[in-house]
Order: sequence, then structure tokens, then C-alpha cells
Amino acid sequence: MISVSDILTAIESGADIPTLAPVVRRLLMFKGDGKDDPKLFLDLVRNDPGLTVKMIRAANSPNEDTEAVDSIEAAIERLGFQNARNLALTVSFIDDDRRDSADVAEHQRMQWLWERSISTATAAENFASKLHIENLPKVRTTGLMLDIGIFFLLYNFPQYYNTILDRWQSEGGDLIEIENAEIGVDHAVVGQQLAKEWNLGIEVEEAIFKHSRKKLNLSERSNGSYYSLANLASAVLFEDRHITGLERAVRYAHDLLGFERANFIDELQRITIIADQVSIKISLSTGPALPYVDLLKGINSELGRATLTSEQMIRALEVSMRKAELLAQKLEEANHKLRDAANHDPLTRIHNRRFFEEFLNWNFNRAQRYNTTLGCMMLDIDHFKTINDTYGHLTGDRVLQGVAEVLKENLRNTDIVARYGGEEFVVLLPETKTDAVYTTAVKLNRAVRQVQFPLPEGSFSVTISIGFVSYSPTHMTNVNAPMDVVHMADVNMYSAKEAGRDRVWPDLQAANGNNPQ
Ligand code: GH3
Ligand code: MG
Ligand code: MG
Repeated sequence: MISVSDILTAIESGADIPTLAPVVRRLLMFKGDGKDDPKLFLDLVRNDPGLTVKMIRAANSPNEDTEAVDSIEAAIERLGFQNARNLALTVSFIDDDRRDSADVAEHQRMQWLWERSISTATAAENFASKLHIENLPKVRTTGLMLDIGIFFLLYNFPQYYNTILDRWQSEGGDLIEIENAEIGVDHAVVGQQLAKEWNLGIEVEEAIFKHSRKKLNLSERSNGSYYSLANLASAVLFEDRHITGLERAVRYAHDLLGFERANFIDELQRITIIADQVSIKISLSTGPALPYVDLLKGINSELGRATLTSEQMIRALEVSMRKAELLAQKLEEANHKLRDAANHDPLTRIHNRRFFEEFLNWNFNRAQRYNTTLGCMMLDIDHFKTINDTYGHLTGDRVLQGVAEVLKENLRNTDIVARYGGEEFVVLLPETKTDAVYTTAVKLNRAVRQVQFPLPEGSFSVTISIGFVSYSPTHMTNVNAPMDVVHMADVNMYSAKEAGRDRVWPDLQAANGNNPQ
């Protein structure tokens, strides 16, 4: 049991809201040596609730008698890049090295909340722009901070608050009501108190308090109804009870923005894709490996024990950081080489099977969690043995490099192409439906066929056979493991070989009565 006064005490004692370890790993890439790219830094911070709160809080700290900042851009500008970067390194975080099941659960729930916040921020910005609201950076920043109350409760009272979230997720109902019944206060009120304590600004306080209230008042349109709609949109995308939530959101979007149903669903789709790209980019990007993170954790807890102002914190941190820097820099250089070698195929320079499998697991879990589709293709060069036998092994290697290049050129940034084995490649296409996977496969098949590999006299070309699948958690309930998806694509690839090679299987166009390729 926790009481309202436990929570208020925690707020006053300067407890923090955390971020995730992958974010910290990215932060560590900013070395503070004058060569950092401030744009990349902004891109990271403006998508992270914990860091955003830290920056706004420091920029608005009471000893400044300037006007309060209302966007992360303005906060970083006021703090200056170096200070902002140092301050960012004092953020608390949830480790993702999975020691036991409680850690895994904690990390997953934080990640869920973190991704949900990015989606809310993206949605708020999107809806506000439709209403011609001018200060969109402010809307995005505010949108990202709407659920700081949940972050705070989850991080500071993990055991107790997790049982509340478990109950809400299994029984349904309104989280605000459950919290009020169980604790006597809800996350919106907690968030509002935090916003007050941290000088996040009166408008942020208001937005946090209102965004998750049941009664939505359209007459307050200009006062940020788009935050409520953004919250409803995230509820549809991130919570299990999609259907009732969707109907509410559709009605509200109609009243607020005049959206038709189909219109709004399209918007939701766009929001998911944008928000997802951000999460993928941050979660998958590699930073210094764990030893450095552990080091930082030590510094963090040292700093956490003392009650320091943000400026003292920055100074204290700089001293510790300088000590850690030399060691860490060496470590990072060594790690970078190792990581690169561990994730890439040396011949083709594309990702290797090990990296692919990590990416596959991550995306498979996401597809199941959010009920989205996941496209996968297996590609195999036709009669490659003959090419080696005819033109020699070196030419064979050049073919592998050329094919890898063409595949990469013809895929989106969010797709992953990897060398799976000898002359086999695999492609993963997150959130891609059957038709689009098929069309992409046909495009790859054609593109490879068009490449001319030069010989001392003349040139030659190669063909590939492609098997694909678009995994859908609702339609393929027999699929339990990520590798099942790869196996299905592989079986289809063998069907493509049997049907005569140089083709895509299943052949959707032939199935529709047209000549396929
Ligand atoms: P199919 O159309 O049925 O796929 O025929 P295939 O000849 O491509 O199939 P098979 O699996 O029999 O042959 C694959 C060949 O790929 C055999 C192996 O020597 C060659 N290979 C595997 N890795 C490499 C490599 O790194 N470089 C080169 N040059 N050849 C490789
Ligand atoms: Mg093969
Ligand atoms: Mg082959």
C-alpha cells in the first residue's frame, strides 16, 4: 500500500523520472569534445520524456528570472549544448540487461510507456497542426510529458503501481478511477504536482491534468483538446481495448477536427509509422556497450544521494565524467570495432545473421504486442554454384557484393537486409502487409536481374528466387516463435525454385489471373 503522502514526499524529495538504457547508450556517443552534432542531440532529447523534463526543469529553475521556456528547443538553447549534454547524462535509467523476470517486466513496461509517450507527442503535434496552432514545438514537448505521472509512479513505487497497472490491463476500466479508488490520487494529479514542483509551466500543468479526464469539453478547443485526442489515439494504439477506444476517438476526432472515420484511421496509421521509426532508431542504435553504462550508473547514484541544484550537478558530473572519460573513450573505440564486426558481414558489408535475429525478435514481439503485420523474405541466388564454376570464386564474391548493394538500394531505411548464409539473403519489413511485401519482392527480383557484372569480355547477369510471408498475429495463431516466420519464407523460397527459379513465391499476380513478371 502507498498513501497520498508517500507520493507527495517522493515528489518533494526530488525523485526523478527515468529513461531507458538504449537512450543512455546513445547519449554516451556525445563526447562533449566539440565534435558533437547538436541536431542529433536535440533529436534524441525531444523524443525522450525523462530528458525533456530534465531540460525544461533546469532551464526554468527558479534562480533564472527570465521567462519560462515552453519547448525543448528553447530549453536547450537556454542551457547551451555542453550544459544540456552534461545534464542529460545525470538522467536515471532502467537497465535492459535482463537478469531476472522482474527486471524484464519492469523494462518492458517502461518501454511501453516510453513508446506511448512518443506516439502521444507525435499525435498532439499532428492534430494541433490541423487546427493551425502555431507553436508546434511547444505542443510536441507538452505532449511528450503528459504521462510523467505514470512514469513517476512506476519508477518510484514499482511493486505497488505495477499491480495497479496489471489490474487495469486485465480487468479494463478507467485507469484514473482505479488509481483514485486504490491510492486516493491519480496519475494526472501526480503529474500536475510534478509539473508544479519542476517549473514545467502552467500550461503543461493544465494539459497534464486535463488530458486523461473522461469528460472531454470541446468548448476548450483552443485550450488543448488536441492533447485529449492525442491521448485517445495513443490509447487505441497502445492499449488492449482497441475497439471501444477507437469508437470514442473517432467521434472525438470528428467533433474536434471534422475528420471522417477513414481519414482519422489514416492519420492513426501515419502517427504509428512516424512514432515507430523514432523508437526503432533509438532502441536499435548501438552505443557504448554496458561497462560504460555501469560506470555512469555509479556516477548517477553518487550524484543522486546528494541534493544538488542542477548547476552543482553539472559541475559535479563534469569532474566525474572527466575521470571516466579517458577509460571510457578507449573502451568505446574497442567496442565500436567489435560491435561492427559482430553485426556485419565482412564480404558484403550488410548485416549478418546474428544482427538479423535480434532485429527479428524485437519486431516479432512488437507485431504481437501491437497486432501489426511483419513481412519477411528469403532470397537465394539461382545456380550460384555454376557461376562460381564458370567465372571463378572471386567473381562469385563480386556477385554477392553486387546483389547485396542492389537489395539495400531498393529497400526502405526501416527494412533490414542481411546475409543469411552463403548466397542467401533475408529481408525483414516491419509493418508491411502481404501486397506490399509482394510488390517489393517483385521489385527486388527485377532489379537484381538488371545488374550487369563485367567480364574481361562482355558481361553476365544473375537471377534470384524469393519466398516471402507477411506474418499477422491474428491470422497465424500457429506461429509462436520468431524463427517460424523465417521458416515460412524459406519454404516459399524453395517453392519458387521448384516452379522454375527467377520468381517470387507465392505468385500473387498469377493467382489473380495475370502474367506475373
Ligand atoms: P539454386 O538455384 O538451387 O539455389 O542453385 P545453387 O547453385 O545456387 O545452389 P547451391 O546451394 O547448390 O550452391 C550454393 C553455392 O554458393 C555453393 C557455394 O560454393 C557458393 N558459396 C557460398 N558462399 C560463398 C561465398 O562467400 N563466395 C562464393 N564465391 N561462393 C559462395
Ligand atoms: Mg542456397
Ligand atoms: Mg542458390
